Amino acid sequence: MLTLETVHSHYGQIHALKGISLSVQAGNICCLIGANGAGKSTTLMCISGIKDISSGNIEFEGRTIHTLSPEKIVGLGIVQVPEGRRIFPYLTVQENLMMGAYRRADKAKVYETLEKYFEIFPILKERNKQMGGTLSGGEQQMLAIARALMGGPRLLLLDEPSLGLAPLVVENIMNIIRQIKSEGLTILLVEQNAQAALELADYGYVIETGEVVLEDAAADLLQNARVKEAYLGEG
Ligand code: ATP
Repeated sequence: MLTLETVHSHYGQIHALKGISLSVQAGNICCLIGANGAGKSTTLMCISGIKDISSGNIEFEGRTIHTLSPEKIVGLGIVQVPEGRRIFPYLTVQENLMMGAYRRADKAKVYETLEKYFEIFPILKERNKQMGGTLSGGEQQMLAIARALMGGPRLLLLDEPSLGLAPLVVENIMNIIRQIKSEGLTILLVEQNAQAALELADYGYVIETGEVVLEDAAADLLQNARVKEAYLGEG
């Protein structure tokens, strides 16, 4: 569904991505794991068109997208949930969710979608009229994911959904991501929590200083000695 081919990207003199190649299969969860500053967020931002690439190629369903504006890329069904959630703190939960649907042409169906996601995220229904900024960290993460889903994406880019959350909340979020996948959505997940990401994903890439150093089925990466030592605190 998505292919990156030797993608380079710079911040001024900083060479953040040094030839990243990866692919995401339709209906799968693919994860990118790696330490702070490895280039995971930059990779997602290049896909969603927020960050320019210096060279290389990004294709979505056979179409080159790195030349398109972020608006056009969202229009193709690629929606990013940014690191740090970025919900609207002074809008209610429902208003935040409705913002996620602002591009949809089928306005009549938006309330149906809202009800559907209230079922998947019951806490958001409960907090419906509460200001987004008053939610807990885990609830804000759920709101950010649900807001992205309101737009009816085909490929969801998730940047560190577990960041700063307690283990039980992380488990809850990972279960929700599993449920979303079972509905047929394709997901590219960026995580520093390698254990949680690899348990959830079908396939994984390990990124170090702007390069893919390892890729394999997620179940095999969980058993890989190098991954165990560097990212799972074992070995
Ligand atoms: P993290 O989990 O900390 O977000 P990451 O793997 O997502 O890490 P990136 O945020 O993609 O890493 O950063 C990749 C490299 O680019 C790092 O060296 C980082 O310092 C640099 N970088 C990121 N954003 C900027 C920026 N706005 N200006 C300059 N350098 C940047």
